[in-house]
Amino acid sequence: MKKMKLVVSTILTLAFLAGPAAGLAAEAKTKEKAKAYPLKTCLVSDEALGEMGDPYTFVHEGQEIKLCCKSCLKDFNKNPKKYLKKLEAAQARQGKAKK
Ligand SMILES: [Zn+2]
Repeated sequence: MKKMKLVVSTILTLAFLAGPAAGLAAEAKTKEKAKAYPLKTCLVSDEALGEMGDPYTFVHEGQEIKLCCKSCLKDFNKNPKKYLKKLEAAQARQGKAKK
């Protein structure tokens, strides 16, 4: 019976130790995964970033997005697919420009 108790407490200790560490690892992974925003303009309004104050930055499905202001976020959330397509097109254009 003594052995059983030891096993249970070992499992509990491991779960306690692994819990927060696993959470941190997952967080670091999502940060690492995010692709950098390639444009110098707001994805929604095409305004130059930084002209209207600090750009609003967030990560959408692993892609970093920068907007000129927080009110553009409402427009982005109305139709994220449209803006992600726009971002892809802009990235393709940039890729061509480099070659
Ligand atoms: Zn804006």
